[in-house]
Amino acid sequence: MLVAIDGPAGAGKSTVARALARELGFTYLDSGAMYRAVALLSLREPDRAPGALARAHGIWMRPTTPPNRSSTVFVDNEDVTRAIRTREVSDAASRVAADPAVREVLLEKQRALLSDGDWVAEGRDIGTVVAPDAAVKVYLTASAHERARRRAAELGADEATVLAEQALRDRRDIEREHSPLRTADGAVTLDTTGMDVDQVVQRIAELARAAAAER
Ligand code: C5P
Repeated sequence: MLVAIDGPAGAGKSTVARALARELGFTYLDSGAMYRAVALLSLREPDRAPGALARAHGIWMRPTTPPNRSSTVFVDNEDVTRAIRTREVSDAASRVAADPAVREVLLEKQRALLSDGDWVAEGRDIGTVVAPDAAVKVYLTASAHERARRRAAELGADEATVLAEQALRDRRDIEREHSPLRTADGAVTLDTTGMDVDQVVQRIAELARAAAAER
């Protein structure tokens, strides 16, 4: 079974998806980490096309079941788990993610991973493109200020700066031509402003259990 969670930056997707995977005993896929890995490569080798970099390098993750922390992300044999979390990489990720050649490579990898087993996968296009047949689809969101507040606290950064960077990233993700961020058909929208993680996790776990009972 697959639970697909999409939504804008800072909506709490990673925290919720990890806790939900733990609760259900599923494996967690952070699809954004793959776009971040391509972004890191592209910052290191700006003269090569991001699609060619995505194809030439081995981008892979070691999922943790149950997931207690972020999955370990590798580029070839280098552990880039920490290197892909900088703000510079966040910005570059939303730029390389607009490139259809990058999306094609990562889509193939993600579909191959998700073809077997039980998963909670999060990103921007899981329910719309990667897995439109997912048993449960959720669009997770929160007010822009709430999202920026959460991200700023996580990064130890200035909230106004995070808000401005987030607005730029949201706009790129929503307005791009290929696989833009939008609510998937049949998705349940959850606005997490004012909700705590556990409430959100329990709500989605209920949806997953109901979907399992229907099978
Ligand atoms: O989720 P995260 O912030 O790590 O994602 C980084 C960037 O990767 C996003 O801003 C988005 O542009 C891109 N992305 C995407 N499709 C996904 C996951 C992430 O385009 N499924």
